[in-house]
Amino acid sequence: MSEKFIPVADHRSLSREPVVPAVLEAPTGRLEDALARPLQDLRISVTDRCNFRCVYCMPKEVFDKDYRFLPHGDLLSFEEITRIAKIFIAHGVHKIRLTGGEPLLRKNIEKLIEMLAVLRTPDGKDIDLTLTTNASLLARKAQALKDAGLRRVTVSLDSLDDATFRRMNDVDFPVADVLHGIDVAHRVGLGPIKVNMVVKRGMNDQEIVPMARHFKGTPFILRFIEYMDVGSSNGWRMDEVVPSAEVVRRIGAEMPLEPFERNYRGETAERWRYADGSGEIGVISSVTHAFCGDCTRARLSTEGKLYTCLFATRGHDLRALLRNGRNDAEIAAAVSHLWQARMDRYSELRSAQTAAMREAAPKVEMSYIGG
Ligand code: SAM
Ligand code: SF4
Ligand code: SF4
Repeated sequence: MSEKFIPVADHRSLSREPVVPAVLEAPTGRLEDALARPLQDLRISVTDRCNFRCVYCMPKEVFDKDYRFLPHGDLLSFEEITRIAKIFIAHGVHKIRLTGGEPLLRKNIEKLIEMLAVLRTPDGKDIDLTLTTNASLLARKAQALKDAGLRRVTVSLDSLDDATFRRMNDVDFPVADVLHGIDVAHRVGLGPIKVNMVVKRGMNDQEIVPMARHFKGTPFILRFIEYMDVGSSNGWRMDEVVPSAEVVRRIGAEMPLEPFERNYRGETAERWRYADGSGEIGVISSVTHAFCGDCTRARLSTEGKLYTCLFATRGHDLRALLRNGRNDAEIAAAVSHLWQARMDRYSELRSAQTAAMREAAPKVEMSYIGG
């Protein structure tokens, strides 16, 4: 019997303490990297744990009962997260997404949302505060999340077919509960809700058209995500990626689509609307059509490491600065120094050469830094 081999290495320890520059320049509200990309979005992973074992993200073979998740003391506290968020907002961040692992598993997540929801940009505007969830706990928590100040949610849903969905989450979770969670979230006003479907060929690509048909004409915006080579544990292969162009072709053959413009710079989804006016879909072509040129996102891991790219091999240990007694001005200057040096454009450079280099330096897992 041949066993599936999934290489994995623990890169959570790969990090360095950021340099605090000698001269502390105050944040200006607009911080650009070396490729003139402003820092605008912050994704914060609030837990590395999850109650699903999606085959493309946390395969059971790796994330089993022996897998060592982070101990509680390693996690950033809500106060630490809020402090970092304030610093990023001072640098120009106006959109914060909570993610994970499964963010709704973090105890008292509502409390964190309350703390973040009161933050304002330097010119007094609200922060666009959102959360990405597998929706397993959403029906139960939606009202409390809304009351705490969450604006909206994005739900991950890979299939409407119960058997396929259970196979993909690999913990036998029923699709009906996710659909119920989406409805409850909509009812309490956590919208517009986006629904993200990761498409893996041979696994759920037969669900592309049924998913489109199901959400067409509803208030929910369905987005198709190309299966990505994040992390080292999902055994990624290019032939399992369904290019967005194919997704659009398959849907368009049954329900005609036309392209229309993105909402803002840095939006990852390319938008298509139904020619009959009954709504839109999005496609996120992380593999076939890199959008690094507009990438304005920073990611904060559960234990406080800053990643300037989803495919980074190393994080920058902001928690060390926090816990070593550095003040906000020092941390802000360190972040500024890091972002100004940023040249990441992994997707654009995805090539044989980079692939070879990355064999030697395994990538960070999606469940650890958040999607
Ligand atoms: N647990 C939450 C959820 O699933 O919505 C939040 C964290 S999850 C890591 C965030 C997003 O990353 C999900 O929409 C998930 O489908 C996506 N994702 C995970 N692994 C992926 C991969 N290999 N390729 C593309 N998207 C992936
Ligand atoms: Fe969990 Fe989300 Fe990863 Fe699925 S995609 S295993 S729900 S973190
Ligand atoms: Fe941004 Fe890195 Fe993704 Fe490019 S590969 S879009 S730089 S996260």
